[in-house]
Amino acid sequence: MYEGVRAPAVFNPETILEALDVYQRYPRSILWAGGTTLMSQLREYPSHDNKDILYLGGVSELHRINRNERYIEVGPMVSIQRLLTVGQHILHPVLAHACKRLGPPIIRSQATIGGSLCHPNLRLNLATALMILETQVEIKDSRSTKSSTRWVPIHRLYKRDGSLGLIHGEIITRLRVFFEDANFQCFSIIGDPFYHPETAVIFAVFAKYEKSTISEFRFSLSLPSIDIFRSKEIEASITSKDLPLSAKEIIAISGQLRELLSNYSSKIQKVQIERSCRILEKTLQDMNTKVFAN
Ligand SMILES: Cc1cc2nc3c(=O)[nH]c(=O)nc-3n(C[C@H](O)[C@H](O)[C@H](O)COP(=O)(O)OP(=O)(O)OC[C@H]3O[C@@H](n4cnc5c(N)ncnc54)[C@H](O)[C@@H]3O)c2cc1C
Repeated sequence: MYEGVRAPAVFNPETILEALDVYQRYPRSILWAGGTTLMSQLREYPSHDNKDILYLGGVSELHRINRNERYIEVGPMVSIQRLLTVGQHILHPVLAHACKRLGPPIIRSQATIGGSLCHPNLRLNLATALMILETQVEIKDSRSTKSSTRWVPIHRLYKRDGSLGLIHGEIITRLRVFFEDANFQCFSIIGDPFYHPETAVIFAVFAKYEKSTISEFRFSLSLPSIDIFRSKEIEASITSKDLPLSAKEIIAISGQLRELLSNYSSKIQKVQIERSCRILEKTLQDMNTKVFAN
């Protein structure tokens, strides 16, 4: 009955070099971090596809957190809970909120940063928050003889159609998040991005203002099963406006977002457009409130 079927081999390297070497020799292996996504995918056992597992948990370098005065550097095997605990006084609030809202506590203690960024089909909390922060990702390629290394800005991790841009054979080995002051940051989710990604939206904002003039406004909007949407056009039309924004200005900006999303992808559902516009309006009102409160 089980002819031609074998249990997968599990490789447990202790260094990055060993992991790259195993990946080069067994390129069809599945990289296994916390396993929370992988375990929720239905797979037959034993199966015919013979996919081996390359477990990254034993690689101590991938668990490191370092900081200096310019940035915090985090290994992809750092769990969401550990990042929150170690970085509680230094993480950008938008990133801390993205971590706190990432699933139930049991998932946060097991899920890792690398696993969250490399979800095969969904663009989730961390990618949305890190996209508006200055974040660089180190990628090592097991296919080249010298295991080449490159640093890319986080948006380059994903292709233009929103799919994961990592090539099979590549491993994320570090992330650098640069420190930068902001006057206003926020992170919101409407719906359930993991179980109902087709209707959910995730929204992150990072803004600076001097006196009452907005000097920088960055936002990212994840339509989890499609892409992370950003718009230089909207960012530019908010930047250099004076706070508080008037009701008329907020409605105009929200209308601009509605139009852009309607033309962006036919896969975006009406409920997502509605939710995106509401969340943007509320965020701009919250920014107004913060200015009044100071
Ligand atoms: C019940 C539940 C609710 C959830 N709710 C949310 C939510 O609300 N918001 C949210 O953001 N997330 C949510 N998640 C998803 C969670 O974020 C992911 O499951 C988790 O982040 C994956 O991390 P992991 O370490 O378990 O990855 P794994 O399952 O081990 O791996 C995930 C993918 O990443 C790849 N990978 C892992 N590490 C690397 C690396 N270093 N380099 C290259 N590829 C790598 C793996 O090969 C795999 O394809 C939820 C999950 C569950 C189970």
